[in-house]
Parts: sequence; C-alpha cells; structure tokens
Amino acid sequence: MSKIILTGDRPTGRLHIGHYVGSLRRRVELQNSGEFDKIFIMIADAQALTDNFDNPEKVRQNIVEVALDYLSAGIDPARSHILIQSQIPELTELTFYYMNLVTVSRLQRNPTVKSEIQMRDFEASIPVGFFCYPISQAADITAFHATTVPVGEDQEPMLEQAREIVRKFNSIYGETLTEPEILLPETKAAMRLPGTDGKAKMSKSLGNCIYLSDTEADVKKKVMSMFTDPDHLRVQDPGKVEGNPVFIYLEAFAKDEHFAEYAPDYQNLAEMEEHYKRGGLGDVKVKKFLNNVLQETLSPIRAKRAEYEKDIPGVYEILREGTQIAEEEAAKTLSEVKAAMKINYFDDKALIEEQMKKYSGR
Ligand code: ATP
Ligand code: MG
Repeated sequence: MSKIILTGDRPTGRLHIGHYVGSLRRRVELQNSGEFDKIFIMIADAQALTDNFDNPEKVRQNIVEVALDYLSAGIDPARSHILIQSQIPELTELTFYYMNLVTVSRLQRNPTVKSEIQMRDFEASIPVGFFCYPISQAADITAFHATTVPVGEDQEPMLEQAREIVRKFNSIYGETLTEPEILLPETKAAMRLPGTDGKAKMSKSLGNCIYLSDTEADVKKKVMSMFTDPDHLRVQDPGKVEGNPVFIYLEAFAKDEHFAEYAPDYQNLAEMEEHYKRGGLGDVKVKKFLNNVLQETLSPIRAKRAEYEKDIPGVYEILREGTQIAEEEAAKTLSEVKAAMKINYFDDKALIEEQMKKYSGR
C-alpha cells in the first residue's frame, strides 16, 4: 500500500513555533526521509471561513503567509504538494456525502470542537458550517487516501471521527476509503506547546505566540517577558519546571549541542532542570539560553523566508501547481466514492442495460 501524508493549517495567521514543533518540523523530516509516496499539505481556507466567514480578507491575506512559512521551514514543492482547500470542489462534495454518516450527538461529543465553541462564544448559536468541520476534515484526509496525518494532539478527535466515517462508509458501500493513522509529535511538550503567557495552548486566536517570521528582536523580547514559575521570586528560591513554559519550550527545542554551545555548565536539559529545582538558577539566565536556542532554530527559516518574499508570484505558482495535482487526486477518489454510492449514472453501462431490460418486455 502506498504511504501518503495529508496535513494542513488554517490560514488565520502566520505560523508559530507551536505549529512548528507540533507538525511542521515533523512534516519536513518525513518529506526528507523519502519514505512517502505522496505528500499533500493543505491550506485550509474553507475551514478557516467556518469561524471567520465575516472576515474573508483575513483568510485571503494569510494564504501567502502560511505558504511562505511552509517554504521557509523546508517544505519542498518538488516533493510535497501545497494545495488550497477551497479550490478543490471535490472536497466539498465528499463532505456532503459523509454528512449522512455522522450524527449531531456524535459531533457534539468532540472535545476539541467543544472547547473551540466555548472559546469563540458560539455556545448560544453555532454556525452549522463550523459544527461540521470535523466532517470536512475527514473529506480532506480521505480524498487523498492519506495513510498518515502528522498533527498536534488537539487533532486526535478529528482523526477518530475520520476513521469512524471511513469504517462506516466501507461497511455500507464496500471497501473504498483508506483508514488514516495519526502521527503525534515525539515529546509531550511538542504535542501542545503552551503560550508565552503560560496558557495551555499557543494559538493564533489567543495572541500568545512566537511566530516563525518574528524578527530576532521580537523573539528576544517575547522570550524575556515570558511567564515562568510565579513562586520563583529570588534566584536562590527553588523553582518548578512542570507547567513552566520556558522549560516546556526547552524540552521541545533544546538539543545537547545547544548546551555545549550556549550553556556549557550543563550537559543536557535534565541537569539544568535539576539546578532550577534546587534553587540558584535565575529565570533571566534560563530565558537567555532559550533565546539562543530559538534564534539558532529560527534564523535559517527567517533567511529562507526573505528569499521567497522576493518572488511572491512564484509562491502563487507553487500553490496553483500543488492545487492542480491535488485536485486530480481528489477527483479520482470522488469518482470511486460515487461509484460505491451508486450515483455514477452516466458512467455505468450496466445500469442502462438493466433499465433497458426492465422495459424491453413491455
Ligand atoms: P486557530 O486558533 O485559528 O485554530 P491554531 O493556532 O490552533 O489556529 P491550526 O491551524 O488550527 O492552528 O493548527 C494547525 C496544526 O498545528 C494542527 O496540526 C495543530 O495540532 C498544530 N498546533 C496548533 N497549535 C499547536 C500548539 N500550540 N502546539 C502543538 N501543535 C499545535
Ligand atoms: Mg486550531
């Protein structure tokens, strides 16, 4: 069986370091591993419109921002197809058919959707489109027969929903769709990177982000004013590393080489954490180290972005080509789906013959 990746992001803002450790870094590694037959990376503008329908300009502006972030982080258009969701009508068509396979109460149980509804004050009246986005995500995944979906932890309920739809579809209409596997980040820190304010998730909607495209000065400013352990007042006080975003970021980003280069008193993160917990290691020192680690990670991304920013028409061309290839793929799946669902009237010679026979005796 071919190994196929589908992942994506909503064009609701530039990408941040949570996206990077939660999904983007992994995608680039998987792309470069050469182990996958096809890779599709989707800019989910139709999904972004489900809760930004009143702000289409925001979505439109962020298409190119997300594309620039992808390319600068190492997505290679020769190996990965970058596509724009709304330009592939087959995805919407699949969504419509899958809607028959999902109940309202099943959608209501989705914990990620539940918390997103709360965050957006949608409790009193939920737009139907937003409520159904897990179904549209199942369409995106299955349209490409994706086997592997590398995403952050918040996407687990979406993957479960997609797998249920696949199983139900195949059991009613016959083996047609491919069941996808989620590929979560390797470390707990990277599954759900907290915000610089210590909130549970770094998120565009919460304004607590370090963006991949932030300048060196912005990154430093954000790191130096990060939330830490509020009880760690004096350097000599013992500090907590659990729930401390500075240490969580280090878990997601710091490699042993970084210690050798920027904090040679420690061999690795465990040693630095021990010192912090014991007391005697100040927040400023840890933050300076984190800043060095982040700058080293982000500066090549920043430099590559600057190159792509000089050729915006070229970036749109990459998107056009990726979308075209993706649409061909989605169209194939849609015709398989329609055949399985017996709604392929004009391609089915046997159907016409069957109807002919029914009437020929009269
Ligand atoms: P929005 O607030 O518009 O929902 P977002 O910041 O949650 O934006 P998405 O586009 O919804 O970003 O998520 C894209 C991908 O990035 C998903 O795979 C998601 O799991 C991952 N991701 C998002 N935020 C984080 C985070 N803080 N830590 C780890 N992964 C994340
Ligand atoms: Mg999100």
